[in-house]
Amino acid sequence: MSVFTGVKRIVVKVGTSTLTHQTGLLNLRRIEVLVKMLSDLKNAGMELILVSSGAIGVGVGELGLKEKPSDTPTKQACAAIGQCELMYIYDKLFSEYNHKVAQILLTKDVVEQPHRKENVQNTFNRLLDMNVIPVVNENDTVSVEEIEFGDNDTLAAVVGKLVDADLLIMLSDIDGLYDKNPRQFSDAKLIPHVEKITEEIRALAGGKGSSLGTGGMITKLNAAQIAMDAGFPMILLNGQHPDLLYDLYDGKEVGTLFGRLKGSVC
Ligand code: ADP
Repeated sequence: MSVFTGVKRIVVKVGTSTLTHQTGLLNLRRIEVLVKMLSDLKNAGMELILVSSGAIGVGVGELGLKEKPSDTPTKQACAAIGQCELMYIYDKLFSEYNHKVAQILLTKDVVEQPHRKENVQNTFNRLLDMNVIPVVNENDTVSVEEIEFGDNDTLAAVVGKLVDADLLIMLSDIDGLYDKNPRQFSDAKLIPHVEKITEEIRALAGGKGSSLGTGGMITKLNAAQIAMDAGFPMILLNGQHPDLLYDLYDGKEVGTLFGRLKGSVC
């Protein structure tokens, strides 16, 4: 059974390590493939919301900085620069396939206040009615600790909840969840399906994979938990090969599925 059976509304999250080279500059070839795959899913009748990281990393690359800054004003300035570049690329590439994008920048307080939450839900719904692909990021230029989601894995799951998604696809720099950190253990084995996030599953998660990565596996498990609690599954896939989305569409078993597929009985 394809994971897309009975699925209409999908949130796709893409991480910095998928979008950029080690230099911090955009990995255009990969983004082009990703945009093509997503455009095809849209053409097949899905509603898409893209949660994209990468603003700070791209800003760092644009400015030619040697490394990610540690101070807040420089980080926020990099995010402001990088977010423009990211949206420019998405707008340009999606328009090649006749799809429109819109930018939504969120902070945690927006989803915590009922009135503001309803407003943003209405905006998402209207954009989807208009056949537009919302591209979401944390509003890094204004976010301070009290109002930040902290990581885009959580943000993606929260957005999934906000829009009542049918599926969350998490594109990372790894094929899925392994029984131990595959960067440290060459004999690590991929776990194709996780029904429940137990303490044993949490214990498998190590830190992030690269200097560009943010949360590591633990934030992906947290996101999966939010998704499963809200009643939709999450699939963790390797974003370095965005064409895996075709395999997924064709019903092949790729990545790690968290929770149950729509319409599955067991
Ligand atoms: P991204 O930027 O794509 O979101 P992260 O670096 O934040 O990626 O998280 C993915 C990384 O988590 C992997 O590259 C891997 O090094 C690390 N990791 C730790 N434990 C595990 C595990 N049990 N299975 C898979 N990856 C793991």
